[in-house]
Amino acid sequence: MQHLFFDMTSPHLELKKIYYSFLTKIDSIDSTQERESITFLALEKIFKIKKIDLYSNPLIHFDLEKEKTLNTIAQRINQHEPIQYILGETIFYDCVIQVTPAVLIPRPETEEIVDKIIKDHKHQSDLTIMDIGTGSGCIAIALAKELHPHKIYGIDISTEALKLARTNALANNVNIDFQHRDILQIPLWHEQNIDIIVSNPPYVRESEKKDMQKNVLDYEPSLALFVPDQDPLLFYEKIADIAKHTLHPKGVLYVEINEALGEETKGLLKNKSFAKIDLFKDLHGKERFIRATMT
Ligand code: GLN
Repeated sequence: MQHLFFDMTSPHLELKKIYYSFLTKIDSIDSTQERESITFLALEKIFKIKKIDLYSNPLIHFDLEKEKTLNTIAQRINQHEPIQYILGETIFYDCVIQVTPAVLIPRPETEEIVDKIIKDHKHQSDLTIMDIGTGSGCIAIALAKELHPHKIYGIDISTEALKLARTNALANNVNIDFQHRDILQIPLWHEQNIDIIVSNPPYVRESEKKDMQKNVLDYEPSLALFVPDQDPLLFYEKIADIAKHTLHPKGVLYVEINEALGEETKGLLKNKSFAKIDLFKDLHGKERFIRATMT
């Protein structure tokens, strides 16, 4: 068999050689930074190396099996498949989160909203939290780990997502009450006195598809991403209603938003009689989430 990856003369190879060889192979990725981070993620998973090893450049045991695995990963990346789906996991707020195409890949922007919630509530005990559209469970799991709530719910319409979220909660040693619900359908919610409601609902308008990358469009679940152009805030409308029914009078609603719809989303919450509404920017300076309270 012809070696696609290396001309192997020894069962050991320098890590740097493997690193640069892989980097060169994934030539469908334009950004150098992205290429480097994907390469590191792949090698980290396969060879259990750490960033620091790239400097000490150890010799790595390399065989046909490893070569095949790396080649397959490189091919899949060149088809624009996200590395997180290929490896089956990612890190979100220090938690290992398994991901499949049934769920959105957790984003750094979402870590920022989680960070804000933790900072706002770290001195409170016995919290009740609800995560609407939990997907992989990443938000609920990170909050459960950091805030040790009395009770935390994770709601989703997708049974496949919920299955994965349950696996993730178990692997992260947290207890979350995952429930299958379609928030557009269920009119009445029994939960009461919830302290924190958080949601990262679908908010990308269909018309924005043309500006999106293939790795998102071809692989991530449309169900978790898109909303119709003529009703882009439909989920926020429902979430606001649910929040009004279920939040404690001093409870807080946190929602991730479409950066282009900050003022509109704020306006919607104002119309739903939320009193204090703050809009926050993400690391890229884009309007990314809102915190709102009833009083
Ligand atoms: N921020 C995500 C993206 O740009 C969208 C997340 C969402 O719709 N909730 O792909």
